Amino acid sequence: TCGFVAIVGRPNVGKSTLMNRILGQKISITSRRPQTTRHQVMGIKTLQESQAIYVDTPGIHIMGKDRNRAINRVMNHSATQALRDIDCVVFLIDRTRWTDEDQIVLDKLVHVKVPVILAINKVDRVQDKATLLPWLEQLAAKREFAAMVPLSAKHGTNVAELEEEVAKRL
Ligand code: GDP
Ligand code: MG
Repeated sequence: TCGFVAIVGRPNVGKSTLMNRILGQKISITSRRPQTTRHQVMGIKTLQESQAIYVDTPGIHIMGKDRNRAINRVMNHSATQALRDIDCVVFLIDRTRWTDEDQIVLDKLVHVKVPVILAINKVDRVQDKATLLPWLEQLAAKREFAAMVPLSAKHGTNVAELEEEVAKRL
């Protein structure tokens, strides 16, 4: 099987780090500064039975904010284009934080018909892992997710599990 996977999420959640981790190379720029990724970054990951084309989508995360800035219009356009032919979406958030921007991204996904997998990143920085379980329950109430995967893009923890969940949806 083969398909396109969009990684979406607000700035700084770790989308580029996740891309690089999955693809095993630095193809996407990571930074503490938001909006470092101005271009769409794509990479192909081949597993035994599947081939996933990952797309790091700059733009979707800033929809709704600063709507009129030219750069945002361009980025939003390319993000919207990118989401058109997608088979699966990975919606990335940062630990147990939920911000207005996360909500904006979630709202944008309302009409998305393909499976949306929620990935909870930076769990290496969650001290008390027991807090994750009730948090996952709260997240599950926000939308029907195809799967929910806590992971650490930086350390690689559980990233293979995410890739397996993605592969099932291609
Ligand atoms: P993007 O804006 O969503 O593309 O986010 P980046 O990939 O550029 O990452 C933003 C910041 O979060 C960088 O400083 C990363 O090193 C950091 N980061 C990303 N993933 C993780 C993670 O799993 N754990 C920790 N502790 N930091 C992370
Ligand atoms: Mg990025």
